Parts: sequence; structure tokens; C-alpha cells
Amino acid sequence: MTDVVIVGGGQAGCQVAASLREEGFAGNIVMIGAEEHLPYQRPPLSKAHLAGSVTRERLFLRAQSWFAEAGVELHRGRSVESIDRAARKIRLSDGEVMGYDVLVLATGGRHREIVLPGRDLAGVLSLRTLAEAEAMRERLEAAGHVVVVGGGFIGLEVAATAAAMGRTTTVLELAPRLMGRVLSAATAEFLLQSHRTRGVRVELSASVTELLGTGGQVTAVATTSGEQLPADLVVLGVGALAEDALAGAAGLATDNGILVDEFLRTSDAAVYAVGDCARAPSRWAGGSAVRLESVQNAVEQARCAARDIVGRSEPYCAVPWFWSDQGDVKLQIAGLTQGHDTTVTVGAVDQGAFSVWCFAGGRLVGVESVNQVKEHLTARKILAAGVAVGPETVGEAGFSAKSLLVF
Ligand SMILES: Cc1cc2nc3c(=O)[nH]c(=O)nc-3n(C[C@H](O)[C@H](O)[C@H](O)COP(=O)(O)OP(=O)(O)OC[C@H]3O[C@@H](n4cnc5c(N)ncnc54)[C@H](O)[C@@H]3O)c2cc1C
Repeated sequence: MTDVVIVGGGQAGCQVAASLREEGFAGNIVMIGAEEHLPYQRPPLSKAHLAGSVTRERLFLRAQSWFAEAGVELHRGRSVESIDRAARKIRLSDGEVMGYDVLVLATGGRHREIVLPGRDLAGVLSLRTLAEAEAMRERLEAAGHVVVVGGGFIGLEVAATAAAMGRTTTVLELAPRLMGRVLSAATAEFLLQSHRTRGVRVELSASVTELLGTGGQVTAVATTSGEQLPADLVVLGVGALAEDALAGAAGLATDNGILVDEFLRTSDAAVYAVGDCARAPSRWAGGSAVRLESVQNAVEQARCAARDIVGRSEPYCAVPWFWSDQGDVKLQIAGLTQGHDTTVTVGAVDQGAFSVWCFAGGRLVGVESVNQVKEHLTARKILAAGVAVGPETVGEAGFSAKSLLVF
């Protein structure tokens, strides 16, 4: 009987286990997760769970009983320290050695760190795990002034949550616009204005020089403009890196993520990598290898790897999509909009309900939708179907996305 060992008990790892059983896999499944908790979803950590409106129990992806019923041996609070690929064995943090026939790495990501005087002061936090979210919530409840360093997705979601809780909130972003690397200028500008309208102070082209404190507790953030912003909670939201060190140490090919092929196989055919830790070729990026951080990517890659393990191989080509809730703004992105050269905005920006259609070389590469769920779903179908549509068509008066689906 084949033994599949999954390293990482997150969104992707949990989905691999579930999909293997759904595909009829009858072998042993062992899942090893470094965190103490049952596998959980992370998106609410910066939103409803941080605000206290969603309980911890509602975050869990599967109940404890599911693991026993599905015959998945779950190890919590234990991490895999090394892989011996020749012997097909892994060593755990407590010294136990386990064998595998197939190994799936679903190790996720880790914080990108910034070197900053005062980084170690109490009240300076990052957010990726449930434990970090709950520590942040405790601080947030008592905080008067919150400073978020980094105007990316997680930083902006935390800022929106903090502002909604009545905290004086400031976002400092090094770049001249929010989420410059991933969003069109039009959507970035809309988000900037909507955060400001909600009372969040957003400073662009702003850099932190030092975190200041008293008695080991952060009290202020000093910026290059010479300002000292009062702060009793500082959130570092400067991005994530792939957790690929374990793979690299085992001699697997890594480069900003564990390199995999379109079936999620690493450079060793007995080892797969899925989710935030993996970098896979994507037709949505013109065939280049990309590392995506989204629930959709974690789930779909896990399904694809599970199918490959049971011999029903299909290349990974799902349309990437992502969402971010920031206050009353629901942003959804279909496709990969990086590298676009032309945009067409459809809808009413002043009413906060519009979509930005992004093109590269006249080809549709993605659609960013703000508070337009139906438009987002239609855009996903259009991209999946490979409908050829140019900026001229989208820019016509009375353009309807749905009409593109009538073949
Ligand atoms: C605060 C926050 C908000 C987010 N919001 C959104 C959103 O709105 N929409 C969206 O689409 N995505 C969102 N994401 C991204 C999404 O949650 C991730 O893309 C997804 O969780 C990736 O799943 P994963 O299984 O690859 O990694 P993870 O869920 O990070 O799981 C990896 C697990 O592996 C464990 N691990 C690592 N190394 C080892 C080891 N050596 N041994 C054992 N265990 C190990 C880790 O402890 C971790 O539990 C958000 C992420 C965060 C942090």
C-alpha cells in the first residue's frame, strides 16, 4: 500500500488529504503540521477573526472527527526537519523517522522580515498564523494608535479592521502607490481614497527609520520625513517568502519557491509541492513559473497533485483568482494582471462598483472587480474559456461582460 506523507497542515495540505480520499486513494495518509491547531483557513485572520466576529472554531477546515473517519493520521505541533530522498524518509523535530512512498510539501510561507531598530519591541507584530492573529487582537483591543508598515493586502485589511474598531490608524507604504506590484493604477487609487474616507491615514513613499519604545513596549514609529507617529501596535505587513528551506536542504530545485512542473511534481518524481511554497509554470503568466498566495491556488494545486498521485494526471491550468475584503470594499481579481499595459474601467468608480479590465499586448490578462461579484464570476468564465476580447470591445458604450459568454 502506498504511503503518502503530507508536510504542512494548512489549506493546501488539508486539501491534498481530502482530495486523495475523494479520488479513491486507499493507502495510508499521514499529515504533519507544525502548528498546534487543526488545519484552518487564514483569510479571516486579518478580517472577521481579528475583529472578533468569527470564532476560532469556525476557522477550522475539518472537524477533528473527519481525520479519523477519513483515515488521515494527523500529527499536530510537530515539524519535519529533514528529508532523506534516497531512503524516502523524513525526520521530525522530536527525532522520529517516518518512511514515505510519496511526499507532498505544503509548507506555505513565512514572513519577509525587515531590519529595523526597535523590531523586537513588544507590540510589533506580523500576521500569518492563528496564534499571531489572536495576539494581535488582544493588542488591538487595548490599542489607541495602530501603525501598519506596508500597504499590501494583509496590511490594508488589518488597517480597515483597526479603523472599524475605532483605532487611530496609519498605513506607511514605501512605494508611490498601494499594492503597486499587483494592482492597476485605477484600482489602487480607488482603494487609497476609500481607506482615507474611512479615516485611515495613508502615507505613500513613506519609509520607517526606527521603532521607538519605553520599557520594552513600542510607543512610536519614526519616519524618513522626520515625523514620530504615536503607536501602541505596529503591524509589519511587508510580504511573505516561500517556506522552501526544507526542500532546498534536501536538494530539491528551489528559486523563490519549490520549483514544480504542471503536475506539481518537484525535481524528484516522488515529491510534490503545492500552495504558497510552490512555484509552478502558469499559462496565465505566458508559461513562466509563478508563486501565488491564494486559497484558490492552494486548493486547486492540491486537487491536481492528488489526481496525479492516483494516476489521473491533468496539467494544472485553473484560472487564478483572489479576493480581499477591506472594510466595505470587496476586491476580487480574476487572472494575473501583472505586466498589463492597457486598462479599461467598466462601471461606476464614484459609486464604488466597477471592474478594471487589464490587457497585455491587446490580450485580456485579468479583471479586477470592486463590489461586483457577478462581474468577477463572469470574468473567470471568460478567461477560462479563452474568449478573445480586446480593449476596444470592452470600452464600447453599453458593454456587457455576460454577452461574451454567449457562443
Ligand atoms: C492574514 C492572511 C489573510 C489572507 N487573506 C486571503 C484572502 O482574503 N484571500 C485569499 O485567497 N488568500 C488569502 N490569504 C492567503 C491564503 O491564506 C494562503 O494562500 C493559503 O493559506 C496557502 O495555503 P498553504 O497550505 O500553501 O499554506 P499555509 O496555509 O500557510 O499552511 C502551511 C502550513 O505548513 C506548516 N509547516 C511549514 N513548514 C513545516 C514543516 N517543516 N513541518 C510541518 N509543518 C510545516 C505551517 O506551520 C503551516 O501551518 C491570506 C493569508 C493570510 C496569512
